[in-house]
Amino acid sequence: MLKPAVHPALMSNPDTITAVKGFRDVLPDETRRWRLLDEAAARVFGRYGFEEIGLPIVERTELFARSIGDTTDIVEKEMYSFADRDGTSLTLRPEATAGVVRAYLESGLAQRDPTARLYYRGPMFRRERPQRGRYRQFHQIGVEAFGREDPLVDAELLVMLTRYLDDVGARDTRLELNSVGDAVCRPVYRERLRAFGTARLAELCPDCHRRLERNPLRILDCKVESCRRVVASAPVVLDSLCDGCRAHLDAVRALLEQESVPYTMNPRLVRGLDYYTRTAFEVVGATLGAQNAVGGGGRYDGLVAALGGPDVSGIGFALGVERLAMVVPAEVGAEIPPAVAVLPLAPEAVGPAFGLATRLRDAGLSVALEPAGRSVKALLRAADRRRARVAFILGEDELRAGRATIRDLVRHEDRRQALALDAPSAVLAETVRSMLGGDA
Ligand code: AMP
Repeated sequence: MLKPAVHPALMSNPDTITAVKGFRDVLPDETRRWRLLDEAAARVFGRYGFEEIGLPIVERTELFARSIGDTTDIVEKEMYSFADRDGTSLTLRPEATAGVVRAYLESGLAQRDPTARLYYRGPMFRRERPQRGRYRQFHQIGVEAFGREDPLVDAELLVMLTRYLDDVGARDTRLELNSVGDAVCRPVYRERLRAFGTARLAELCPDCHRRLERNPLRILDCKVESCRRVVASAPVVLDSLCDGCRAHLDAVRALLEQESVPYTMNPRLVRGLDYYTRTAFEVVGATLGAQNAVGGGGRYDGLVAALGGPDVSGIGFALGVERLAMVVPAEVGAEIPPAVAVLPLAPEAVGPAFGLATRLRDAGLSVALEPAGRSVKALLRAADRRRARVAFILGEDELRAGRATIRDLVRHEDRRQALALDAPSAVLAETVRSMLGGDA
């Protein structure tokens, strides 16, 4: 279970409204880390020709039913679906690939730029049982590359993924790779799996009985313990690959090996979604416990056509931001830009203090402006809470002389330097930067 994050002072108050179970706030210590993850995505994915696409959070339910598949856990039990006022069934997106494909078709990109490379980021919604690393609203950064079937693209994406993980300093992750076959060999494998499961029916859960009929591949990611035991000795798709899929996989592997990208083959890796073909992969975090998938993806050569588009292939991946944040070192995003405090001692100092703060901010500095009328000690404590490293103090003496006193709050020395209150932005900024010694 998730630890209740409610402050004890609120728990006892019956009027308190808390967040919905599985939905969490992302506080500044975490958003700062997330921003770096976002910036790295723009930087690294940009080198591979990916541009960002913004998508709606709500789509027609049908989009997910058709793309993800009626027999998946997501569509069967995890979607937040509701009827709009006109009766249309809408769903909070559980993932973004279907939305990207819809946009690719609807916007005409499929004709204008059939090999479009797009990345997205944002919240996804699945009504799973909340636990550490698993939430009902979570966030993904993901990419999709359309219109190319050649193994070069698979390899480019995998190299890009490892470069991204390196760039953000992700630790203790490994890349697992598999091929799940295509329209030629997957049906053969499906039948092998069905025959295998049917022979062990008594050991499988009722859900898996249904899966065996409708979509036997689903038994591979059943979470019931007895099913997992059975599945451990199930035939693997890798042994059923047709020549085309085998050659494709070999080519991807050769390119990865050429660039010394570390990965392990995992013949049991099947992705939870129905539309995957050939290349499937996952990034696993060794330190994450039960919810150890940091990200995953693969090829989906039949999806665009299944959503009414041309027969265009696609490949992509999605990283879970909450989990990514757990595998990057604590220092990432820990640093807060140094701030400057402007501390008016007397009420008359408010106007000049406001002007000073505005000009410092115009010069690009982060300024904490405190209210007037408190003691120097109280003001300095407030400046400290704001993590200010330099303070401008405006007391009566300073006002009379038209000069601020500047105090170095880091060295805790009374290094004072008088400065005209109406000094231009550039002069103020230069003074602060010289005191911060290149940190600003
Ligand atoms: P998927 O779309 O299921 O392939 O998920 C891709 C990634 O999203 C996973 O590897 C996780 O990092 C993340 N993810 C999926 N579901 C959740 C969830 N309920 N809570 C947090 N992260 C999730």
